[in-house]
Amino acid sequence: MAYDPNNIFAKILRGEIPCDKVYEDDHVLAFNDINPQTPTHILVIPKGAYVSFDDFSEQASEAEITALVRAAGKIARDAGLAEPGYRALSNTGRDAHQEVPHFHLHIFAGQNLGRMIKPADK
Ligand code: AMP
Repeated sequence: MAYDPNNIFAKILRGEIPCDKVYEDDHVLAFNDINPQTPTHILVIPKGAYVSFDDFSEQASEAEITALVRAAGKIARDAGLAEPGYRALSNTGRDAHQEVPHFHLHIFAGQNLGRMIKPADK
């Protein structure tokens, strides 16, 4: 899948629409989800143009991958989430209902998150 430069996170990265920023460095931007699913719901995205985790894990540089993983951990730690815990999750593609085609890691926290996945009805 080709990267769509008009996706909403690309517009945020270009400063064309605002976000509620929680972190930024050379490779990474993080902001609060506009429609939070849990009391804390942060999105961590690379500044590079990657469609999904699949694309990012294959095409991103070591520096970009390291930056995103380190940033996600630091964001969660600095927000006080390491205890009692949080869930980091990335939806990739159709079956995962990925809506925005720019790789993003969700950080969910602030309540008991239950155990893993409840599959949708077929
Ligand atoms: P996904 O289904 O994994 O692609 O998740 C996309 C997420 O992006 C959803 O949780 C949306 O609420 C969130 N989202 C969409 N537009 C914005 C926006 N402008 N600012 C912040 N979060 C957004």
